[in-house]
Amino acid sequence: MKLAFVDLHRQYLRIKESVDEAIETVIRNSAYIGGEQVTTFEREFSSYHKGYHPVACANGTDSLEIILQAQGVKNGDEVLVPALTWISTAEAVVSVDAKPVFVDVDSSGLMDVDLLESLITSRTKAIIPVHLYGKTVDMTKIMSIAKAHNLFVLEDCAQAHLAKWDNQVVGTFGHASSFSFFPGKNLGAYGDAGMMLLRDPKLAETCRMIAHHGQKGKHNHILSGRNSRLDGLQAAILNVKLRHLSQWTEERRVAAKYYDSLLKEIPGIRIPEVSKKTECVYHLYAIEAEQREDLKKFLGEKGISTAVHYPSPLPNTLPFKTEQQFPKAVEVTSKTLSLPLFPEIRKDEIEYVCEAIKSFYG
Ligand SMILES: *Cc1c(COP(=O)(O)O)cnc(C)c1O
Repeated sequence: MKLAFVDLHRQYLRIKESVDEAIETVIRNSAYIGGEQVTTFEREFSSYHKGYHPVACANGTDSLEIILQAQGVKNGDEVLVPALTWISTAEAVVSVDAKPVFVDVDSSGLMDVDLLESLITSRTKAIIPVHLYGKTVDMTKIMSIAKAHNLFVLEDCAQAHLAKWDNQVVGTFGHASSFSFFPGKNLGAYGDAGMMLLRDPKLAETCRMIAHHGQKGKHNHILSGRNSRLDGLQAAILNVKLRHLSQWTEERRVAAKYYDSLLKEIPGIRIPEVSKKTECVYHLYAIEAEQREDLKKFLGEKGISTAVHYPSPLPNTLPFKTEQQFPKAVEVTSKTLSLPLFPEIRKDEIEYVCEAIKSFYG
C-alpha cells in the first residue's frame, strides 16, 4: 500500500464541481485582486469568530507580522513565543525588530503557561500562544496573565481552525488572532492565503492599511506599508471549502480516535495528549515514538509517509540560538512523529499504519 502523509487530491475530487465552477466565475469576472469573493470570505470566516474584525492577507506569516507592526511592537520589545512551533511565529517578532523570548513546552507539546510569569520583564509587550497540531493552549490562564501584566495577546491559529478551548472557538480569546490557509492546513487554499482577526476595529483598520501599501482609499497613503492581499481565486476556493470545514474536522477526529484506539496498547508509543477542555481539530496526529528515526524509515519502506514536526526546538536553530535551555522541547522533538491524517483517510489505511507500527516494535 502507498499512503501519502496528506492526500489533497482526494479532497479536491469530493468538491471538484463547485471548485471548478468557482474558479471559472472569478476568471469570467476578472476579479483577480480583492472583489466579492474576498469580501464574502472575510464575512463568512469571521462569522465563526463573533465580535472580531477580519482582514484577509497573502499568508499566515504576513498576518502575524502585520498585526505586530500595527500594534506598535518594535525594537527593544520582547515577545513570548513557544519553543516548539513553525518558524513563522518567531520570524514575525524579528521582522518588527523585536526579540522573541522562548517558552519551553509542557508534556502535550504546547507553550507551558506555568513558565510565563518567570519570563516576563519590563520590556515584554506581547504573548503569541500557538494552538499547535490543532490542540489548544490554556487561554483562560494566558488571558489572566496578560491582563495582570498589560500584555497584548496574539493567538497563532494557523493549525487550529475552529478548535475550541473550554467550549469557545480559538481566535476569540486574545486581542488578535492569525490564520493560515496554506494548502495543507485544515482549511487550505490552492496557494498561499491568510487572515487576521482583530478585536479592536481601529487596529483592524491599521492592519488593512499596512497590507494595502499604507493606503486609506486609493492613492491616500497614510503610512509606508506593503503588498499583502488575498487574491480572488484563492478566496473563491476558500469559500467553497469553508462550507465543508465542520464535516472535515469531524472526519479528522474520527480518524484520530481510531488511531488512538489502535496505538494505545503498543509499547514504545505515546498517543497525543489532549486536555479535557480542548476540542482538538487534529491538524496533525503527532505521536511520540521510541527509536523514532528507525520507525520512520521502517514505515517509509512499507509505503507510509510520515513527517517530523519539528526536528528541533526553534531556539536551537541557527537564526534564534540562545543560552537558555529547553529540556521539554528537546525531549518532544527527539521523539515526535506525525502519522498520515486527513479527512479522507480510510479505516483500512489507518489499520495498515498501526499494524506496521506494531510489527516494528515486535
Ligand atoms: C503555517 C503556519 C504559519 C504560517 O503560515 P503561512 O501561511 O505558511 O505563512 C504560522 N504559524 C504556524 C504555527 C503555522 O503552522
